[in-house]
Amino acid sequence: MIYPGLDIIFLFLLTAGIVFLIGLWIYYDRRDSQRETEGRHDVIYHCIKCGHIYTGVHGSEECDCPKCGFCNGRLQF
Ligand SMILES: [Zn+2]
Repeated sequence: MIYPGLDIIFLFLLTAGIVFLIGLWIYYDRRDSQRETEGRHDVIYHCIKCGHIYTGVHGSEECDCPKCGFCNGRLQF
């Protein structure tokens, strides 16, 4: 039976560790970029009746406040 040398085992474990870390890096990078693009297109509203700040769907010009129900226009910067 052929036994691999200690240097071969060390290289295999080092390579497996590097591949594992690169896999984690790619996974978390994709997850974070998806989270950023989901919230990027929301529209921000400020309720002039109760002061609540909330977000509405992309492209909307008016949205009801989730706290008091007052219809507000979108914030313009
Ligand atoms: Zn409100």
